[in-house]
Amino acid sequence: MYFDTHCHLNSEQLYEKRADYVRHAMDCGVDHMVVVGYNLKASELAVAISHEFENVYAAVGIGPEDCLDTDAEELAKLEALLTKPKVVALGEIGLDYHWDTVPPQKQKAIFRAQLELAKKYQQIVVIHCRDAMQDTYEILAGAGVKGIMHCYGGSVEMAQRFIKLGFKISLAGPVTFKNARIPKEVAAKLDLKDLLIETDAPYLAPTPLRGKINEPANVVYTASEIARLRGVSVEEVARQTTENAMKVFRI
Ligand SMILES: [Zn+2]
Repeated sequence: MYFDTHCHLNSEQLYEKRADYVRHAMDCGVDHMVVVGYNLKASELAVAISHEFENVYAAVGIGPEDCLDTDAEELAKLEALLTKPKVVALGEIGLDYHWDTVPPQKQKAIFRAQLELAKKYQQIVVIHCRDAMQDTYEILAGAGVKGIMHCYGGSVEMAQRFIKLGFKISLAGPVTFKNARIPKEVAAKLDLKDLLIETDAPYLAPTPLRGKINEPANVVYTASEIARLRGVSVEEVARQTTENAMKVFRI
């Protein structure tokens, strides 16, 4: 009944025991998930994993922290993945100004090139945005694609602007953190029809598991906190966010 819209079973921390994590998730009612790529190798792995398990899907893309050496040849290899079975999105892609590893100009160029690919193959996009809200918004506003703002950390007002562009807002573990005033406000105030839930596993384990390796089963904690903040049942949050995810990924 829960849909983890963003996890990395393709990461070093989770890959080896991926079958255990998938089984544990299913046992906890997390019966759908999308494994998200962040570079070419992780994207290829995401596709392979999606073919190993039922109800596990893949997103393929080159993220802002991994695009320093991305060239036309690498983009062509990514393009070839976009039409594989069970690939439901292009991502994660976007801008990250938190670390200084890749110059913003390069990040923007690779972001734009992948938005063009999304348009060409009519894929939705999964957006990674960190300390780059305004630039991300400006690029998406002119891109003509729809998708998901993953692990959204901005304001309610900014969320409404992304929603107007055709984006869903995905909330992760941070909404459960005690001092996360703004994510809690986003969880409480947006229309439930615009929200998705995710773990971003192995990162960002929710309270009460903070600091541990995160896994898809833990998306339940995020759903519970959203339900508490909205004064509705966790079943309703699970049902509506799953319906939203099915719709946006066209499953
Ligand atoms: Zn991610």
